[in-house]
Amino acid sequence: MFAAMAAPVNDPEHGFCRDCLTLQRGRTMRCERCGSPRIVRHPELHKLHIAHIDCDAFYAAVEKRDNPALRDKPVIIGGGKRGVVSTACYIARIQGVRSAMPMFKALEACPEAIVIKPDMEKYVRVGREVRAMMFALTPQVEPISIDEAFLDLAGTEKLHGLPPAMVLARFSQAVEKEIGITVSAGLSYCKFLAKIASDFRKPRGFAIIGKEEAVSFLADQPVTMIWGVGKAFSEVLARDGIRTIAQLQKMERSDLMGRYGVMGDRLYRLSRGQDDRRVEPDHDAKSVSAETTFDTDIATMDDLVPVLRALSEKVSTRLKKANLAGRTVVLKLKSQDFKIRTRNRQLGDPTRLADRIFSTGLDLLRKETDGTKYRLLGIGVSDLSDDGKADPPDLVDMQSRKRALAEGAIDALRDKFGRKAVETGYTFGKGHRGRPSRPDEDEGPEVQHPWERI
Ligand SMILES: [Mg+2]
Repeated sequence: MFAAMAAPVNDPEHGFCRDCLTLQRGRTMRCERCGSPRIVRHPELHKLHIAHIDCDAFYAAVEKRDNPALRDKPVIIGGGKRGVVSTACYIARIQGVRSAMPMFKALEACPEAIVIKPDMEKYVRVGREVRAMMFALTPQVEPISIDEAFLDLAGTEKLHGLPPAMVLARFSQAVEKEIGITVSAGLSYCKFLAKIASDFRKPRGFAIIGKEEAVSFLADQPVTMIWGVGKAFSEVLARDGIRTIAQLQKMERSDLMGRYGVMGDRLYRLSRGQDDRRVEPDHDAKSVSAETTFDTDIATMDDLVPVLRALSEKVSTRLKKANLAGRTVVLKLKSQDFKIRTRNRQLGDPTRLADRIFSTGLDLLRKETDGTKYRLLGIGVSDLSDDGKADPPDLVDMQSRKRALAEGAIDALRDKFGRKAVETGYTFGKGHRGRPSRPDEDEGPEVQHPWERI
């Protein structure tokens, strides 16, 4: 079923070598030209065009690239205050190190590991280079995170002179050569299976899942392969005796929806390989937000409000820079026990003003300050549009117009003299408790995960 192992081939001409890109005529296990064993064969090879590309152990790969002495050593990127693993290289993974694992556990599993603090600026830079190479293949690129994206390669064959599968193989080679890290690619007819495929043969992987085999392939997999089925939900399913996707395939939609609501519908569709979400190129601009994690968990308005104000200003600055405005304000809180609360409110018109974002967020926040201690606060806007229609002069509410004008003046001063030149009453003179403590966490617009919208 998968590229590298595909045994019987309908048409031998459908195979090619991932290393020299030569089309294969025979059925040999190695390339007829260069002898490489990395042959891709699949009956649907030329029909599939939805791809998922994911860099292998991205942060660790970048560090290894920049310091060859690390190449054959177990490397863990992470640390900092909360001390968890961000990325482990494959050598460290073999010894049991996983992302999000507490550092002390990781070092128990792999005591000789070299721990490196993340250098986000560098990773963002390299991530952008990889993304630029994706955009050279097609404008239909939907970034999911710093190091992965969906691509729709439909209709690009003329441009590249190669079918999507070969374009992907050539892309992987080019990234290795030009950027010095490796990627894995998955090719399928839908996003759900393209993503699974890219994960299948990591690192330097290339896997294909076609329409014909989708249902039988999924049948053998655990329910956790379905996006949205995390630990908690898989336990719910396990209590109902459901562990494999095969079990879901035998259940009626109405039964699944009756039991699990909207999630039941997702289980029904994805278990059968039905996923008609398109690759959405502008996906990374679906929401703009900023959040921060506190050193000490906090519960009171006194402590939370200055942070909300500072974050609202940050979001506003980003919106203005990108000429964007958002119509829905989203407040995010994470409590001491790691439960996430999100609350949102739609506005009459899109906004890019810190003041409107803040005052809406404040309304939402008031209802959540019930003594719960929070470890994280975030604010953002979604429903984005360009800022042409944002914050229209409001004849009824002269106050809001005045505020908009004042904010324009503050922005102008800050442009000239820097952020610190103007402090508002909410942030002025507040001590360290109110100040975002982990600036590394709120860089760049937060990308809403597409799977949440399935
Ligand atoms: Mg990755």
